[in-house]
Amino acid sequence: MTRGFFNVPKAVNEPVKGYAPGSPEREELLATYKQMFSSNVDVPMYINGEKVRTGNTKNITPPHDHQHIVGQYHTADKSHVDTAISTALAARQAWSSVSWMERASIFLKAAELLAGPYRAKMNAATMIAQSKNVHQAEIDAACEMIDFFRFNVEYMTDIFKDQPASAPGIWNRVEYRPLEGFVYAITPFNFTSIAANLPAAAALMGNVVVWKPSDHQAYSAQVIVDLFKEAGLPDGVINVVYGDPVMITDTVLASPDFSGLHFTGSTFVFKELWKQIGTNIHTYKTYPRIVGETGGKDFIWAHNSANPLQVATAITRGAFEFQGQKCSAASRAYIPSSIWNKVKEHLVAQTSELKMGSPEDPSNFINAVIHEGSFDKIAKYIDLAKADENAEVIIGGNYDKSVGYFIEPTVILAKSPTFETMTTELFGPVMTVYIYEDAEWEASLKLVDESTEYALTGAILSTDRYIIEKASKALENAAGNFYINDKPTGAVVGQQPFGGARASGTNDKAGSAQNLLRWTSVRLIKETFVTPTDYKYPFLG
Ligand code: NAD
Repeated sequence: MTRGFFNVPKAVNEPVKGYAPGSPEREELLATYKQMFSSNVDVPMYINGEKVRTGNTKNITPPHDHQHIVGQYHTADKSHVDTAISTALAARQAWSSVSWMERASIFLKAAELLAGPYRAKMNAATMIAQSKNVHQAEIDAACEMIDFFRFNVEYMTDIFKDQPASAPGIWNRVEYRPLEGFVYAITPFNFTSIAANLPAAAALMGNVVVWKPSDHQAYSAQVIVDLFKEAGLPDGVINVVYGDPVMITDTVLASPDFSGLHFTGSTFVFKELWKQIGTNIHTYKTYPRIVGETGGKDFIWAHNSANPLQVATAITRGAFEFQGQKCSAASRAYIPSSIWNKVKEHLVAQTSELKMGSPEDPSNFINAVIHEGSFDKIAKYIDLAKADENAEVIIGGNYDKSVGYFIEPTVILAKSPTFETMTTELFGPVMTVYIYEDAEWEASLKLVDESTEYALTGAILSTDRYIIEKASKALENAAGNFYINDKPTGAVVGQQPFGGARASGTNDKAGSAQNLLRWTSVRLIKETFVTPTDYKYPFLG
């Protein structure tokens, strides 16, 4: 029962903690890491508020120490997926009709719990299982997740306030109903915050969810489940299943009540899911919403007016943080020949300082890539560049998987703008640079725009306002998140809503009202105060 138009607390970005030597947050985090690293966690599935253990388990091993087992997670067979769907649907009646303030309170509470008692645990789990350094864990697993919860609550109320005009004698109202059925959230390994946000955004809007986390994020997914539970999320609203993605997806997409897909992951998988939904379309009671944020081949383009040190820094940070495993990570750069030597000099100097190793040692900037499949793929492309006369590996190029999946930050110089590593998403610490003649800058923008199927993020660097304007126009469809004189990564919720088009996704901008709208189905209510009794219009005479 609502007895007031309530305002929610103004959303503010969670301040990023520094973790400087000697700081209390550093001590707490490293102690938590140590304790979690040396214990064994048993991660159940989570269906209707019950911890479900099937005994059919897979080991969880840190990418930087792949022989060390930190726990295991339980996987589903088809019956568990069916139960997750039916219990979600059973929870729907209460959840979809509870007042929005109750839902808002749960996620606002989750934000505060994460800012406080859950922070070290969420960050440590992310460092261990996804091999993120202290800073990368903090900006993802703590700050971005907190921001998603806080800002989405505010955006929800903004949406609710958007109401139609009413002519005299009538009252028009718009009601933002949750979708009829359930939402299927499939999440990637690389951001703990995305893993939480995909099910949470739909749930906040009153939907019930079946959530399939990535196998490589199960460790921190468990902390998210604990967080939701402690924040008061009722049983059955978000149900978590692990295991064979094809079996789980086939089961979910066969349900007539499937009403929306909230996906983040690779382009190929998303296109296959879209196709499968299309094939099943006659099965569904409603047209499913399809939201997917997918791959990228994100660019840095520099003009000869750019400062070479700034260009090099944008590359070092943009390409190598979190081992290049951000969907926004720069992986192709176009540099004019007149400034290349200087850029290269800075790049060599900066990358030579990057230490690589376990995230337990905070001085390591680079940690391991996520798993052996990824390691082998990236190594294969590095070898290809080493062997090809159209390319030269000028920085890094070494890799070693004896202890962890470590790949040196690598820069490839490509003679052709369509060399394979200029166009293929590798999702690792590999940057390919193409040098263009200064006078050809306009043609080089065309290359940026047309060389790949993606359009996620991109950055241009120049000090010339005419060039900035022209490049921004020439690249208007080349990136959903476009940066001027910066690196193309590091979007902050509430400031730079994130997503791209073309093969990079549906561009529904995670962390925005636009995204939340996709999880609603609007009902327009028109009420007439004095109902007509004469069917004749004046023109009938
Ligand atoms: P992935 O596509 O391998 O896996 C993503 C999810 O899909 C996982 O949960 C996985 O188990 C599941 N999956 C895999 N095959 C499936 C299938 N056949 N049917 C159903 N589900 C299936 O991606 P990843 O390696 O976890 O993440 C990296 C990818 O995600 C990169 O391509 C990256 O660009 C993209 N990404 C994009 C964004 C964005 O906002 N655009 C953000 C993060 C990651």
